Amino acid sequence: MALFRHATFEISAAKPSGLPPSLGSEIAFAGRSNAGKSSAINTLVGHTRLAFVSKTPGRTQLINVFRMKNGAALVDLPGYGYADVPARVKAHWQNVLAAYVSSRQALKALVLIMDARHPLRPLDLQLLEWYLPTGKPVHCLLTKADKLSRSEQALTLRRVEAQLKSANQNASVQLFSSLKREGVEEAEGAIARLFGNPPSADPVASD
Ligand code: GDP
Repeated sequence: MALFRHATFEISAAKPSGLPPSLGSEIAFAGRSNAGKSSAINTLVGHTRLAFVSKTPGRTQLINVFRMKNGAALVDLPGYGYADVPARVKAHWQNVLAAYVSSRQALKALVLIMDARHPLRPLDLQLLEWYLPTGKPVHCLLTKADKLSRSEQALTLRRVEAQLKSANQNASVQLFSSLKREGVEEAEGAIARLFGNPPSADPVASD
């Protein structure tokens, strides 16, 4: 899709204050480590292993920024929930995430990536608690949906939808699979709408 295609890596920062104020509108991707965030970003961007930049040594704890075609920034937040890291490092990530999602003015919307088999884990809920009071929208991708049967998918979607809607009307959710490329168009449409940009308004959106 035009919005994401040809996104390029721009900058990394250790904390939100290290990001240039002039980045423009930002859309952030967050999720537990191993939830499938890098794969989802790469699937949406469509042409490279772009988000694996964020996984290169030295960058996993950083906020990594990619520039999209519409001039907005795609912000890949550090994955959370690693089992084997010292408490000090965990606390640092939590501070970075809390500060970014609760206070970043340029942030327009959050895309929350969760493994469809384990959605809304405590750290996901914690992130939402920091973010939802801002009143900005969140769109959730339930990734690795290919690992569930059709009936499990439907059940999970209904359950997560109900839980999110009770917390916030500005929350939406869908199934997604990078492996099977399922839910890609739905995600593109939803994310474009978060920018106030319906895909049909973009003359090259269907390419
Ligand atoms: P991240 O740590 O959240 O960036 O997760 P990655 O994108 O690196 O994915 C973690 C693991 O899940 C990798 O082994 C991926 O191949 C796998 N994975 C990611 N997305 C999918 C998916 O949609 N389906 C399946 N079956 N596996 C996936």
